[in-house]
Amino acid sequence: MPEYKAPLRDMDFVLNEVLNAEQHYQNLSGCEDATPDMVGAIMEEGAKFAERVLSPLNQIGDQQGCQWDDGTVKTPEGFKEAYDQFVEGGWPSLAHETEYGGQGLPESIGIIVNEMVGTANWSWSMYPGLSHGAMNTLNAHGTEDQKQTYLTKLVSGEWTGTMCLTEPHCGTDLGMLRTKAEPQGDGSYKISGTKIFISAGEHDMADNIVHIVLARLPDAPAGTKGISLFIVPKHLPETIGTDNGVSCGSLEHKMGIHGNATCVMNFDEATGYLIGPENKGLNCMFTFMNTARLGTALQGLAHAEWGFQNSLVYAKDRLQMRALNGPANPDKAADPIIVHPEVRKMLLTQKAFAEGGRAMIYYCAQLVDKVERAEGDEKKQADALLAFLTPIAKAFLTEVGFESANHGLQVFGGHGFIAEWGMEQNVRDSRISMLYEGTTQIQALDLLGRKVLMTQGESLKGFTKILHKFCQAESDNSDLQQYIKPLTELNKEWGDLTMKIGMKAMQNRDEVGAASVDYLMYSGYVVLGYFWARMAKVAQEKLAAGEGDAAFYQAKLTTARFYFQRILPRTRGLVETMQSGADNLMEMDQEHFAF
Ligand SMILES: Cc1cc2nc3c(=O)[nH]c(=O)nc-3n(C[C@H](O)[C@H](O)[C@H](O)COP(=O)(O)OP(=O)(O)OC[C@H]3O[C@@H](n4cnc5c(N)ncnc54)[C@H](O)[C@@H]3O)c2cc1C
Repeated sequence: MPEYKAPLRDMDFVLNEVLNAEQHYQNLSGCEDATPDMVGAIMEEGAKFAERVLSPLNQIGDQQGCQWDDGTVKTPEGFKEAYDQFVEGGWPSLAHETEYGGQGLPESIGIIVNEMVGTANWSWSMYPGLSHGAMNTLNAHGTEDQKQTYLTKLVSGEWTGTMCLTEPHCGTDLGMLRTKAEPQGDGSYKISGTKIFISAGEHDMADNIVHIVLARLPDAPAGTKGISLFIVPKHLPETIGTDNGVSCGSLEHKMGIHGNATCVMNFDEATGYLIGPENKGLNCMFTFMNTARLGTALQGLAHAEWGFQNSLVYAKDRLQMRALNGPANPDKAADPIIVHPEVRKMLLTQKAFAEGGRAMIYYCAQLVDKVERAEGDEKKQADALLAFLTPIAKAFLTEVGFESANHGLQVFGGHGFIAEWGMEQNVRDSRISMLYEGTTQIQALDLLGRKVLMTQGESLKGFTKILHKFCQAESDNSDLQQYIKPLTELNKEWGDLTMKIGMKAMQNRDEVGAASVDYLMYSGYVVLGYFWARMAKVAQEKLAAGEGDAAFYQAKLTTARFYFQRILPRTRGLVETMQSGADNLMEMDQEHFAF
């Protein structure tokens, strides 16, 4: 049976040795309690829960799926009990305000727990994951009364939350949504409409579900400017157990994440309450979406880590063929497949994406801490940097997470295709991450169009300056030149490419769309290169000082070298394709797309 072991050593390395978490928390208001001892204790406990409770339920969740019966939804065996333990352990309240029953810890600590929980069992983790986003939205935009009524129950974990955006005719283009909200004159609204694909929309894990719903007021302007945001509970707080006109019409039958209920939700004059100003719903929802996007970036890391761990065990155990340079294991009938270069490539690719992705996400989470708790310029800069990195983290890490899950399966050969090993589940479960929370294509347009070109390249400069400073500081470090030299060149090239695309886009807007995904992937490889170089620098310093576990640091250096020599050169192909222009995509008439 596939298993998950929390990579505590690597998590500690990224957090404390690379990102200097102790200092980060000391500099932030309200984070004084986040000492290394305390964070270490949270990690240990989170690891136990993920390994012992959630990991064994991962395959069960896939096999049993969720069952719909006349509007009720039964989650797979053990899911509810695991949720009860999660609540008893106080986990839902970790990174929420003390005023509403939370523990007041920063988001970056929450994300560490989310990583372990999500890697052990992604489908299960989506139930509290959606609640977390609902809590952040209410915290940012709810009234005091709404927070006391709803947020406190979500923070305690008694109730869970959802995000209801998508409708049958609109997913990406929310400006077309039709769900209606009729004011009742007493501060409440009657919400009517159908939402589809609603994760955790109905289940048996909590007493109530707080739906955060996008809907349109009467006479609202057309498009995205006429959308408002509402709280629509499954049961109104004053009448728990009584129907509020919210029902689950059916469950989707889907490719993966079977343990998570993906629901068609019908709102039939359900009572709801406005969150934030009228017609500003999409702006308010962005609070939710940004948290959710970083949460989805984590899914890329989760499937890469899970695939890596399980395929590594298999590659050391499975005997097939001999090493090309002669038997490595002459006493046995064959050598373990880990001796073969191409098997190693698949393992190292997964390792490079998982460990590099961890550094990228923890770094983004520290930016979230600064946005939430710092002041003045520090807050502003963190906000701009986070806005730039979020589409990269979301789309790039989920694309390479899916690639990694595929490598994990391939290491198992034909056995990877057989359900009992769990590798095909990992591939299926990972595929959704490139679709929800904005597809890769939409993240790419957001990055290149909205974030980079619309700021005249300012947001890109916010990051390239950091990269430049790092390369400058290490320019005399001969051991690091194998990383610094290519990064310096890429950093310059990144700006040049942006300029060229921007110039072409002035003549033809399709040039932006045509370059966008290649540009995003290029950006992802460069950003990951920066984190691998930072990790290599720390490893090199520790080895030189003779500190700690030499084998761990040596493996970091070897993986960094692999990343720079085997993965980063993918940028060369992307440079060619992103500059090849829009014509090769747009010149064919629609009717010539024939079959
Ligand atoms: C399992 C699952 C769980 C989900 N959970 C939730 C949830 O909890 N809440 C919720 O509200 N929604 C949820 N969704 C919906 C999800 O967010 C949408 O499916 C997603 O946003 C894409 O929308 P769509 O499916 O309508 O695709 P479309 O918007 O129809 O897109 C189709 C294709 O066109 C591309 N495309 C569209 N516009 C452009 C453009 N301008 N440029 C380039 N390419 C473009 C897209 O990238 C995609 O490849 C979930 C979906 C699934 C499958």
